[in-house]
Amino acid sequence: MELNHIDIESIVKQVMSEVVGQGATHPQAQTSNTGPVPQRARVAMLTDTKKIEVKAFDIPSINDDEMLIRVEGCGVCGTDVHEYKGDPFGLIPVVLGHEGTGEIVKIGKNIKQDTIGNGLGIGDKIVTSTIPCGVCDSCLTMPDKDNLCENSGIYGLIPDDEKKFNGWFGDYLIIRKGSTFFKVNDMDLKTRLLIEPAAVAVHAVERAKTTGLLSFNSTVLIQGCGPIGLLVMAVIRTMGVENIIAVDGDTNRLDMAKRLGAKHTVNFRHYKDHDQLVLRIKEITKRGADFAFQCTGVPQAAANIWHFVKRGGGLCEVGFFVDNGNCSINPHQDICNKEITAVGSWVYKVSDYPITLDFLRRAKGIGLPIEDLITHEYPLDQLNEAMDTNMKQAGIKIAYVNK
Ligand SMILES: [Zn+2]
Ligand SMILES: [Zn+2]
Repeated sequence: MELNHIDIESIVKQVMSEVVGQGATHPQAQTSNTGPVPQRARVAMLTDTKKIEVKAFDIPSINDDEMLIRVEGCGVCGTDVHEYKGDPFGLIPVVLGHEGTGEIVKIGKNIKQDTIGNGLGIGDKIVTSTIPCGVCDSCLTMPDKDNLCENSGIYGLIPDDEKKFNGWFGDYLIIRKGSTFFKVNDMDLKTRLLIEPAAVAVHAVERAKTTGLLSFNSTVLIQGCGPIGLLVMAVIRTMGVENIIAVDGDTNRLDMAKRLGAKHTVNFRHYKDHDQLVLRIKEITKRGADFAFQCTGVPQAAANIWHFVKRGGGLCEVGFFVDNGNCSINPHQDICNKEITAVGSWVYKVSDYPITLDFLRRAKGIGLPIEDLITHEYPLDQLNEAMDTNMKQAGIKIAYVNK
């Protein structure tokens, strides 16, 4: 192709406008390609138990260490619902939402890259992870286990403050100094909305791997097919494990489990008692599961799962992010005599995020319909309804989507 002078001039103009558009020179002077940033914007604030109100505030100016994000959406988490119901964390008034994603519309000049060194600019899509405090006993003595930080922060669980935009249930979010965030431009919105819960699943599997009991030919049982259980299943399947057994009491969730890699599904409601259920699991696995993930928040289920694991097998408890009470197990029969190796899993480490992004890309690569986990979408002014839907356990993953 031959270019004349006019062609070259127009190409140079186009390239220059793109370079400027990426914020390479004067980031603070840039606005996003989704239009100018308004002066005021809305947040959905939990002002009382079971009461979310949409309020509008002026968007404050961004300093050199901050970013302004136009929110595209945010998943509703069990933690949000827990706070919505009774304010156990004492955060009210608070803008909830920690499973969010959005686009950078303003960026302070000190922010040049994300937490793993990818260059950042206006228009990039990001997700946030936790903010370890760095000074508590856990942070000081186990810096490689930042999920155990005693004062860990996360956007969406910070009480209302003077800057206002500190939860993902809003039109905008202000990312402050010291945060962790990752560029995720190559992922569609639904997948981005699942990154945070997927990180919980990835961390659980990383914990399980420390037992040395997970391999390609392992028989893995996953009890509880809510978003976390289903994502654990998808991680295990993506790792190459084929013998996966899903246990739940909901037909729709078990159907989804099949689509995400379960070879066998077991509806515990079809068995007249626990002994019958154990017999069915033994029938499928011959001697019990090599490894089991407990992903329900039901104490009795946490006690029962020990009976599904074979002698010398492993178990990961990932179901209790809130205290739902006690259960009893028999230390002779369940732990000692069978030599079960059990690990607990708590949230995720910041370093689990890059692994999670890899997992999601690979899961798509092998055709797992991860994005179908999002069954309900609500706009900002219907978050009370979104919480209700979650409480009724309708669907799988409920999300706020900012259209
Ligand atoms: Zn969550
Ligand atoms: Zn700490």
